[in-house]
Amino acid sequence: MKLLKKMDNIEHIGIAVSDLDEANEVYTKLLGTKPYKQEHVKEEGVITSFFKTDNTKIELLQGVSENNAISNFIKKRGEGIHHIAFEVKNIIKEIARLKKLGFKIINETPKKGADNKLICFIHPRSTKHVLIELCQKI
Ligand code: ZN
Repeated sequence: MKLLKKMDNIEHIGIAVSDLDEANEVYTKLLGTKPYKQEHVKEEGVITSFFKTDNTKIELLQGVSENNAISNFIKKRGEGIHHIAFEVKNIIKEIARLKKLGFKIINETPKKGADNKLICFIHPRSTKHVLIELCQKI
């Protein structure tokens, strides 16, 4: 199989938390920097908070509405790493490429995510139980 390098760097790592204020304090201490952005993503029912490091970002996510993915994740598995996000240049092409390779795409039509990105998720069933996010700058 001919492989082409398609994914760029790790854009961010998403961490599910149950108390965003408390988690912000922990990560501010840990990273020595404050979050540069906090955003309510209404469609997902989550509040996110972003920290920059030299070459990537940390996204803290807390569920706010009923039945959102983050609260359900925490109920099942507790707080912790929720997803790894890779930056891609063309999310539509990348979705098509991964679909052809047999990956299970959760949303085949990219949606608007936090931090001005078009995003889609790949089901953990096809990635050794890690939720993978693709994101493209808008
Ligand atoms: Zn993310």
